[in-house]
Amino acid sequence: MEEILKIRDLKLYYRTLRGTVRAVDSISFHLCKGETLAIVGESGCGKTSTAIAIMRLLPRNIDVYEGEIILNGVNIMQMDDERFRKEISWRKISMVFQGAMNSLNPVIKVGFQVAEPLIIHAKMDKNKALSKARELLELVGLPAFIADRYPHELSGGMKQRVVIAMALALNPSIVILDEPTSALDVITQANIMNLLKKLKKESSLSYILITHDLALSSELADKIAVMYGGKIVEYGTSEQIYLDAKHPYSQKLLASIPTLRTDKKLEFIPGAPPDLVSPPSGCRFHPRCPYTMPICKEKEPPFQNVEEDRYVACFLYGG
Ligand code: SF4
Repeated sequence: MEEILKIRDLKLYYRTLRGTVRAVDSISFHLCKGETLAIVGESGCGKTSTAIAIMRLLPRNIDVYEGEIILNGVNIMQMDDERFRKEISWRKISMVFQGAMNSLNPVIKVGFQVAEPLIIHAKMDKNKALSKARELLELVGLPAFIADRYPHELSGGMKQRVVIAMALALNPSIVILDEPTSALDVITQANIMNLLKKLKKESSLSYILITHDLALSSELADKIAVMYGGKIVEYGTSEQIYLDAKHPYSQKLLASIPTLRTDKKLEFIPGAPPDLVSPPSGCRFHPRCPYTMPICKEKEPPFQNVEEDRYVACFLYGG
């Protein structure tokens, strides 16, 4: 498969009054055309910061922002802001933000909100942009007349479809989906996941799906990167991770998913995610890991290749 995005040693640290927060700490992964990579992990593990780093939506308190983000062979980290905004942002990589459906402007009709990126970024004339907005609404399964409605006239699922239409407006090849269904009921969640699958198939879109919900990611993901404490601790195909998770953290995450068919006892992960101002020494998972060995507290486990296209950072697998 054609590789379209490669991330190498990406770091994003924030400056705070308590010290430097190492939100994303040297992560690497790649994404192929038409593929979905799910980044999963608990809240505060660096998932959304990874998306922010890729989209270059950096807050003012950035301390470190470095590494390589290679899009179709070009290192977009080296582009100046102006060029990045004109050529990459929303045109090549777009994003559906967490809870974005609640940030639709309540006093502007949704058609104009979908048309706005076309007017601003593609310099499209207003009528043409509105007509394209109607097409985009139909693409995401909404009738075109919705364009003349205000956000409060739509259900949560309809608003989320509007937000997805906005992300698709400039025909990007990669869409980052940050918890795209977290505020929706389960039926609407299933409908949105089906829509995302359909769009992916029809338009060869690649997704980076950010979620804390491993079960939900199974709906869409081809590959999974499990994040813990600002680092990727396991990477592999969804089949490899679901059927044979190797990292103790991935195993615990899977064991905490309820199932209807078995009466297995649900597990939980003792303790809390690490404080990224002063993360634990060695393996960041060691205070919560049932298999901790002396070396785990002293050395950081290397992110090693254990099978083809499968990586794990854990001393149980050598290192
Ligand atoms: Fe557990 Fe050690 Fe593996 Fe970390 S390196 S996950 S502490 S066994």
